[in-house]
This record gives sequence, structure tokens and C-alpha cells, in this order.
Amino acid sequence: MSDWKLLDVHAHMSHVSFSSDIDEVISECISKQVAVISNGTDKSSNQFSLKLATKYKGIVYSAMGIYPVEALYNMGYPIEDLSYSPEQFDLEDQIDFINQAAKDHKIIAIGEIGMDGHSLKEDTYDRQEEVFIRLARIGIDNDLPLIVHSRKMESKTLGVLEKLHAPKVIMHCFCGNVSEACEYAKKYNWMFSLPVTTPNHSKLSVLSKRLGIENILLETDSPYLNIERGVRNTPVNIIKTLNYLSQVKGISQAQVQEILLTNFKKLFPHVDIG
Ligand SMILES: [Zn+2]
Repeated sequence: MSDWKLLDVHAHMSHVSFSSDIDEVISECISKQVAVISNGTDKSSNQFSLKLATKYKGIVYSAMGIYPVEALYNMGYPIEDLSYSPEQFDLEDQIDFINQAAKDHKIIAIGEIGMDGHSLKEDTYDRQEEVFIRLARIGIDNDLPLIVHSRKMESKTLGVLEKLHAPKVIMHCFCGNVSEACEYAKKYNWMFSLPVTTPNHSKLSVLSKRLGIENILLETDSPYLNIERGVRNTPVNIIKTLNYLSQVKGISQAQVQEILLTNFKKLFPHVDIG
């Protein structure tokens, strides 16, 4: 049984910026009762998320995925203008590894997966879709939610998930059409996870107001997407979004917290949160 009150559904705890003080960062999560799903994007971050979730059972949970950039890079597509060099790994082996982890109940979600029109060019879209579908199917077949990236390909990504009849979806940091998002949220009961930058972001702030609270979860995308640019983000910062949501929805923070927990339980009925 775990003892937490809030959950960051999308963070990258394997990021190098946490390498020197990850234990302190998780200690702070424990003291503030903030749980975190550490999302994988490549071979080493998938392995890391599993290790961290094993070490901090009940406060850190593991999700595994392959980021579209890493997938395409390992399919031999040249990737230009990236601020980092992607890890080299065997794509098929990694898909097998994720599949096995799902079957063995070692992970609670598939993510980060999805499609990207920001770093990747149009000639990659078909291949992106193929990998995305294969990874999404692992989630669907094992009753695991999908944590989905859709930067600059939001409509396309939603359409692929619709065709797959994906029952459990968390759209992370969704910056597409707000009406479309709300339609999908209602129709399929999909979730949208809001980052801490939501109050200052033109589209996300509108999305947060228009979405029913029953379709909202919180995320940080740590270490990225902090309100203060250039400062490392950490999971405990989701507490700030709790304040914001309470104002936007006109209900108390305690009520928001309770609804977010209910939303979580709907998607993750097998995770014992006491
Ligand atoms: Zn991310």
C-alpha cells in the first residue's frame, strides 16, 4: 500500500540532470506525498525507470516507451537539428523488452510513445505511425494506459488512437485543437495531463478551463517544462497546478485532489494506493 495524495503521470527521472541527487528528489516526493510515473523514451531510460520503481515501490511507478525520435533514429533515419544525440539500440529488442515488462506486470503504463511533427519530417510519418501502433497495442493488450506525445501531430495522433479503439489514453502536454481534445475526452473518456506551465500557456490554459475535471490528470514532464525557464522541474511542482485547478474549476483543493485520485483509479485499477 502506498501513501501519496498526488501523482505526476509524466516525468523523466532518468534525465542526466537528476543523476547526482535523485534520492533527494524522491525524498521530497515522499515527504510531500507526490507519486511519480517515470516515463522511458529509449533503452537506458526504460531500464532506469524499472530500477527506480523497484527501489521506491509505492511512490515511483514505471512506464516504458520509445520516443518517436529515438524510434526513427534507430530505424536509420537521419535526424537533424537535435539538441542531443539519441541512444543507439536495437528497436525490435526494445519492443520485445517492453512487451515482456507489460506481461510481467512490471510497468503500469506504456509511455512515452506517440508521433512528432516538430523534430521529425513528413517522410517519417508512416514509419512513426507503425511503431506507435505496435507500442500502443502492447498497452491495449495488457490493459495498460498509453501516455502519448503528439507535438504538432495532434489530430493525426488522436485519429490513430481512435482507430485502435484505445480504451485508456493520457494525452501528455496536448497543444492541439482544444475543441477536438474536449470532444475526444468526452467521447472516449480519455485523459489529458496538464503540465505546470498550463496557467501561462495560451492553449493549455483554455484546455484546462474547457475540459471536464473528470478528464484531467497532472504532469510535470520533469526536468522539462518548468514555469521558470532554464530551472530544473521536479515532480513536487504539480502542487502548483493543484492550486490553479482549484481556482479554475471553482472547487476546493481537497476536492480537486480527490477527483484526480478517482481519475487515476479509473485508469489504474490494479495499482494499490490505499
Ligand atoms: Zn516527456
